Amino acid sequence: MSAIRVAVIGSGPSGAYTAQLLTEESDLPIEVDIFDRLPTPFGLVRYGVAPDHPRIKSIIASFTEVFEATEAIRFLGNVQIGTDITVDELRAHYDAVVFAHGAPLDRRLGIPGEDLAGVHPVREFVSWYQGHPDHAVDAFHLAGSRRAVIIGVGNVALDAARMLVRTTEELRETDIPEHIVEAFAASTIDDIVVVGRRGPAFAKFTNKEFLELLEVESTDVLVDPADLELDAVQQAHLDANPAARRLMATFQKAAERGSLGRNKTIRFVFDRTPVELLGDRAVTGIRLTGTTDPSETETLDADLVLRSVGYLGNPLDGLPFDTRTGTVPHRDSRVLDGDDELGGVYVAGWIKRGPNGVVGTNRLCALETVTSLLQDLASRGETAPAPTAEVVDALLRDRDVHVVDWDAWRAIEAAEIAAGEDIGRTRIKLHLRDDMLAAAMAAESVAANV
Ligand code: NAP
Repeated sequence: MSAIRVAVIGSGPSGAYTAQLLTEESDLPIEVDIFDRLPTPFGLVRYGVAPDHPRIKSIIASFTEVFEATEAIRFLGNVQIGTDITVDELRAHYDAVVFAHGAPLDRRLGIPGEDLAGVHPVREFVSWYQGHPDHAVDAFHLAGSRRAVIIGVGNVALDAARMLVRTTEELRETDIPEHIVEAFAASTIDDIVVVGRRGPAFAKFTNKEFLELLEVESTDVLVDPADLELDAVQQAHLDANPAARRLMATFQKAAERGSLGRNKTIRFVFDRTPVELLGDRAVTGIRLTGTTDPSETETLDADLVLRSVGYLGNPLDGLPFDTRTGTVPHRDSRVLDGDDELGGVYVAGWIKRGPNGVVGTNRLCALETVTSLLQDLASRGETAPAPTAEVVDALLRDRDVHVVDWDAWRAIEAAEIAAGEDIGRTRIKLHLRDDMLAAAMAAESVAANV
């Protein structure tokens, strides 16, 4: 029997789990091509999971084992779906296609002043400090600024706040590029305000992450005890949610601890709705009103505003998309065009269920997808075999696409380790696409001459 060929779009956690489960869960001969628009694999584990969270990032080692365990899984990096190869071509060249390309866009607040200089979606900030190649090295100037305001109380907001107060020594233990360490070292931001539109009972970040913030030695974490007097709605939420109760206990602990006179502060304010960002060309402040009592208004000075209010998926030509939810419509992971299944097209991860959950959540999500896909393969009748890998390779070659394969990625990785060792760090990310491709090409030319 000729191999069943599956394309997985996106090599982040949901794509990597999908590939792993496809090869593990089936007795059929399955070949998986994982595409990524970047020359590097692992998506949000590399560019989203905070650099000071090495334990979560260590999942990369397990994903690496998946790629290296079998030749049935190939990595095709630096391939842009829609430009280098279309959705229709993928459908024609594979037995099944799984879209697992995440949620690469940002929700907006929809208030005046959102496009002022100094106002950014948190993703830009996170991607910049993670050394993502799409972000200019000088995208953020933290020197000369005093207050940063972060809108939203999810885990991403906490990551951004924590990174703003990390010491240079702590940052040098991570893999972020050296110019980013220097930008943080030059930062004069010592006052961070994190704004929740609802009460603390509805804060979305996890207790573990909040406890970690309280451990940061440079910084006072301030919570107003008045914000912890709960109304009936918050109390009912707390009564029904053990996780919210645990978090509320930590809020109490922070409120009781109060200020320890540290150099920097992260202050939480709740029940405030942002209504306007102020400033002429660059942001100078933010106007908030009470959420439960809109007649209360407050203006905060701000030099940097990060809106951390959630991510959105992006539409791809040839793939149905629900603009309301920012996801691809599906039934049991099978992509729907109206009420009908598109056939052979599946989704996994944030593009399927929206931007929620932790890295491990994607394993269960991918398992649902793989289960549907394998059921469909088992029930389909005789079909013509999908074109071979060589057909896809030739198509990309004809279009002058420089595909970065697994070995070339390993060469990029080796260059990152060498660059780190040169300056006494374990590893530093290459942050320029050209440098990544140069490292990949050096390895490719060695391989070609062997
Ligand atoms: P999130 O958890 O959904 O939080 C978004 C926040 O934005 C919420 O507080 C939400 O408030 C607020 N918000 C939304 N629209 C708003 C508006 N118009 N005005 C003011 N506030 C608004 O999203 P996230 O922080 O981007 O995280 C995404 C996912 O990644 C989450 O599942 C998260 O747990 C996960 N993640 C995990 C880790 C970790 O495990 N360490 C790290 C980073 C991210 P409402 O609740 O009122 O809507």
